[in-house]
Parts: sequence; structure tokens; C-alpha cells
Amino acid sequence: MFFIAWYNVSSNFDQLLADINLGLGVLSLILWLRTQFSNPGFIEKPREMDFLKLMQIVDPIQLCPDCLVIRTPRSRHCSTCNRCVERFDHHCPWINNCIGQQNHIYFIWFLISIFTTIGFIFGSTLYSLISMNRNDVTFITQNDLRYWILPIEITCNIMVKKIVSIFVLCITGFFLMPVLLLLYIQVRNFVANRTTNERFSRRP
Ligand SMILES: [Zn+2]
Ligand SMILES: [Zn+2]
Repeated sequence: MFFIAWYNVSSNFDQLLADINLGLGVLSLILWLRTQFSNPGFIEKPREMDFLKLMQIVDPIQLCPDCLVIRTPRSRHCSTCNRCVERFDHHCPWINNCIGQQNHIYFIWFLISIFTTIGFIFGSTLYSLISMNRNDVTFITQNDLRYWILPIEITCNIMVKKIVSIFVLCITGFFLMPVLLLLYIQVRNFVANRTTNERFSRRP
């Protein structure tokens, strides 16, 4: 709702900027869903072999007592998912999934995309706030295409625009730095071929 309301107001100022923002927002949403619904690299149980048999063949230290699989050197057990994940990075509550070997790259692309989106919204809103003039009055009527997105007739005067713009600046400004920090940590880890878990874990 926030995004649609913001889109309606901003698109009255500059349709192109609003459309770019909408495109980036949709791209972030797709990458978020892609990361959420992908298999992070869950380690599967060996077929047709019970745990007691496994204990005789494999060193018990290598077996996960929680999900009963053979652990690998870079895997960790996620207590939220209750599964062992290959090259486990962390469990992300935003994504509601583990970040591991198979979806780490999607997660980084998601962070790049969301940072670009937030940064672009912040920049274009600031630009529109500075460039607003006093007589700028906007109407969204039933004939307008945007009426299909949010079926409310909007009479938007300069005061409303300014209040919405400042609100958008506060929200995006608040998230900009933490997302940038997270992106920086993730890219640094990725380049160094290390996981967040390995960097902060006390285990060797
Ligand atoms: Zn496990
Ligand atoms: Zn998890």
C-alpha cells in the first residue's frame, strides 16, 4: 500500500523516475521470492540406510544428531529449518529461509537490487522535493490508468506531496545504511570465499 501510494504521488512529478522505481521494486520482489523459495543446499539423508548402520560406517562426529545426515566440513545445522545446509551462511528472517551454497548468489543479487531500489527512491524523492513548485496540484480520476492500481480518487496538493515525500525520505533513509552494510559484508565474504557463519563462529 505504501509503495502504491508513493508511486501515485511520485509519478505525478516524473513518470519516468516512478516507472524506473517500480521496475526496480518488482525486480527486488522477484529476487526475494527466488531466494525464499530456493533450496539453500539442504543435505539429504543417504537412502536406504538407517542411522545405526550409518554410525557403524561413518565417524559419529560427522553425523548430525538432529537431522541424521552426514555433515560436510562447511555445512551447519540450522535450528530454525532443522536441516543441515551445505556452505551455510546464515538463516535470514527477512527471507524466511537459510542462505547457503545454492541460493547465496540470489541473496547477493537481492541485496544489490533492494539497495539500488531504496537508493533510487531516496534520490528521486529528494530531487522531486527540491523541485516542487507552489502551484503543483494533481488529480487522479477514474479515467486515469493509476486508478486501476489504487481505486481512490486523489486530489494531491503541494502540502500532501511534501508530507509524503518527507515520510518516504525518512523510511528509505532509515534502511539505506543497514542494507549497504549487509551488502558490503556479503560481497566481501563472497569474494574471500568465506561464509558469515565462518567469520563469526568460534568453531574452527
Ligand atoms: Zn542437521
Ligand atoms: Zn534455516
